[in-house]
Amino acid sequence: MEIRLLGDPVLRQRAEPVEVFDDELRQLAQDMFDAMYENEGIGLAGPQVGVGKRLFVMDIRDEESEPRAVVNPVVIEEEGAERGEEGCLSLPGLVGVVERSKRIVMEGQDLEGSPIRIEASDLLARCILHETDHLDGVLFIDRVSPIKRKLLLSKWKKLQREAATR
Ligand code: ZN
Repeated sequence: MEIRLLGDPVLRQRAEPVEVFDDELRQLAQDMFDAMYENEGIGLAGPQVGVGKRLFVMDIRDEESEPRAVVNPVVIEEEGAERGEEGCLSLPGLVGVVERSKRIVMEGQDLEGSPIRIEASDLLARCILHETDHLDGVLFIDRVSPIKRKLLLSKWKKLQREAATR
């Protein structure tokens, strides 16, 4: 699977709800897990692999939380605020500090279409909010200060130029 990078319009589109829970969906999730691990990410959303569907996979690799695929997520409760560093597989080389809710409750579905509910805090909450943003065409650089955003975008252009001349 090819990971889509900043500049690809699919990253800026609102993804569509998943309505069919079939083997094709489960294979897609498996391929997304593979791509996430291959690229050493902790989360990957449909649009990042060019699929405009509301699903993401995540694995923050701590002892308490397992790898999960989440379909049609909705964040129903948010509490507190915390600043933390974020990166994104669609913006390799960029890191920014983003303020997110500290604790959240998310509802959605699993790959069989059964309802799921996840209560999350800290890194897991951050990961879910970051991935859910992707489904609405929002990237973490949209949530940093305007000055930082400008710096990140100029660094991005520089990295792209370097990659082109390599
Ligand atoms: Zn991301």
